[in-house]
Amino acid sequence: MDLKFQREAMLDQLKERGVDDLRVLAAMRTVPREAFVLENFRDDAYRDSALPLTHKQTISQPYIVALMAQALELKPTDHVLEIGTGSGYAAAVLAQLSREVYTVERVGDLAISAAEVIRKLGIQNVHIRFGDGTKGWPDEAPYDAISVAAGGTSVPNALFDQLAIGGRLVIPLGPVPESQKLLRIRKLAKDRYVEDDLGNVRFVPLLPDTD
Ligand code: SAH
Repeated sequence: MDLKFQREAMLDQLKERGVDDLRVLAAMRTVPREAFVLENFRDDAYRDSALPLTHKQTISQPYIVALMAQALELKPTDHVLEIGTGSGYAAAVLAQLSREVYTVERVGDLAISAAEVIRKLGIQNVHIRFGDGTKGWPDEAPYDAISVAAGGTSVPNALFDQLAIGGRLVIPLGPVPESQKLLRIRKLAKDRYVEDDLGNVRFVPLLPDTD
């Protein structure tokens, strides 16, 4: 089936599931997900499911990418930090909605291939770094929004510190992957925040050390 047609079907599904931010829907229409999946999964690119990448990692499900983007309440002037570049797909979506996206990936091969896809698509406001994302990217802080695309048990201190006052951070948290919740944390002051529960999710683990 024609990929454009499938992309429109994906948008209908996102709307049905409650994604109603028009800028987010436009970003999901703009970014070709097929460019970010492994070659033999191209035909599945617009199914609303996560798909495998190399190194036992996954490209997030479109609905989750859209939900996170919507929850981050991005403005065109925002500086965004993403932890867990993976394929680079979510970074490309966030880049449509903000000024600059800084994204950190702990698997070197994934960082390299994501950078290659982003470059080929001509996206110029995504900056990819290989390293441990739990430390954030201090040189470019503070961030108006931080998207953490791997699950942990608590928000790494460095990430909360690098979030601007008024900034939003979205992260899957839970004691085990089976009981993760996607949370939005809004920073009200240096040590004060409010939390919203965006629902149950399952992400690959946020691992502190590179191997
Ligand atoms: N946003 C991605 C999906 C990410 S999957 C996409 O759209 O394709 C989660 C990613 O987080 C994996 O690639 C994994 O290697 C990475 N990751 C896990 N722990 C990390 C850490 N401490 N720092 C940076 N990246 C990490």
